[in-house]
Amino acid sequence: MMRKRIDFHVHCFPDALAPRAMDVLRSNAAPFGITPHTDGTADGASAILAEAGIGAAHVCNIATNARQEKKVNDFALSLAASDRPLFAAGSIHPDSGVKDSELDRLLGGGIRGIKIHPDYVGIMITDPRYDEIFSLCEERGMYVVTHAGFDPVSPSKIHATADGLLSVIRAHPKLTFIAAHMGGPAQLAEVREKLTGTGIYFDTSLSSTRPDEREELIALIREHGPDRFLFGTDTPWSVPSEEVAFLETSGLPDGALEMIFYKNAARLLNLN
Ligand SMILES: [Zn+2]
Repeated sequence: MMRKRIDFHVHCFPDALAPRAMDVLRSNAAPFGITPHTDGTADGASAILAEAGIGAAHVCNIATNARQEKKVNDFALSLAASDRPLFAAGSIHPDSGVKDSELDRLLGGGIRGIKIHPDYVGIMITDPRYDEIFSLCEERGMYVVTHAGFDPVSPSKIHATADGLLSVIRAHPKLTFIAAHMGGPAQLAEVREKLTGTGIYFDTSLSSTRPDEREELIALIREHGPDRFLFGTDTPWSVPSEEVAFLETSGLPDGALEMIFYKNAARLLNLN
């Protein structure tokens, strides 16, 4: 029997913008030896995910400036309304003047949460402008996914550190808060020390690209608990079949894998 899988961390762009967006992202990532595996479109993502036995995806959209926020959310709403097996996160920029109304517009279109990327906007996750966003999401029962740890776009400064993540969950105990990439590249020891046993969620994306940390990543799942992890690939930035294999060969029990691949995401997305 084929396992049900939702990929909680996928990127794609409107068809007309994908070539230009991918050019920019490709040149940011190239110095770190990272190359994309799709053409940046929704069809490109759906095809590579289907090959890996992943039936549905949650697209993480990011407003990299306040001016773009509405267009980014328009795209998220269009994905959510399409017949493709796609879910979407909207996004709020810290300098947005319409945070309340954009969140309500997203909710009205069936979108349950947002993605933020502190490195892309160059603002620390502990900034009061983010705090305002977290309060508004907490009030509405919307989740927040944040990039965490190192990102090639800001090589010399991490804007979502383990300490920063901890201060967010302490200030917003009712917020469903998800740190991407197992709490973030280049800070796994701090993540394990400071965040294990808290209410934070992690997505598993990019784990297959961290072979040296494999055992510690699996230990984090066991210690923090599988009910707090969401399977993700970060498509186009990893090979989806390898991300699936990371979990399938982890030695975690079947019940834990069912939670990570499907049940936890279904709960956050309000699926039956
Ligand atoms: Zn990502």
